[in-house]
Amino acid sequence: MNRPETAIAYIGLGSNLADPASQIKTGRTAIRALKGIRELAFSSLYYSFPMGPQDQPDYYNAVIAVETTLLPMVLLRALQTIENAQGRIRKTERWGARTLDLDILLYNDQIIDLPDLTVPHSGITDRAFVLYPLHEIAPDLQVPGHGALADLLSQCPLAGLKKLD
Ligand code: ATP
Ligand code: MG
Ligand code: MG
Repeated sequence: MNRPETAIAYIGLGSNLADPASQIKTGRTAIRALKGIRELAFSSLYYSFPMGPQDQPDYYNAVIAVETTLLPMVLLRALQTIENAQGRIRKTERWGARTLDLDILLYNDQIIDLPDLTVPHSGITDRAFVLYPLHEIAPDLQVPGHGALADLLSQCPLAGLKKLD
């Protein structure tokens, strides 16, 4: 039997509710437990101020690199199942507080523009809590359509982002 094709994907994790650091840890364990995924790297934990509505707790963030046989939409649905299992409640307000957010940042060098999936993730160019942990584990990355990750990072102020470990 042919070996299924594998891709390298980067996934951003974020949480600001119900013990965020352990939400990130549980999310990581759940991602590692998915069939068709192997962890390649996991960033340090970072601490950031909320984007959008300011009347919510501060965030913990991290980025995981995986090798996967899951196609992009299958990966997205699997990540949403993990978010839901960890008590994610979606409200109408954009960027509100959440137990766990799992965003596909990159999937190989693919550019994907589907109704439910935009890759590279739309926030990758200007969010410190995405760029810094991503750069920590993959400093030489190119972001399709946007150039070198290192160049994006050099133009992105920390805006209060702190590396925790
Ligand atoms: P943002 O995407 O700006 O970080 P968010 O993560 O809070 O905001 P969610 O409520 O988690 O947004 O997701 C809203 C929708 O975004 C989802 O229904 C999903 O289909 C869509 N989406 C589009 N591209 C992606 C992606 N690359 N990763 C995860 N979700 C995505
Ligand atoms: Mg998000
Ligand atoms: Mg999301």
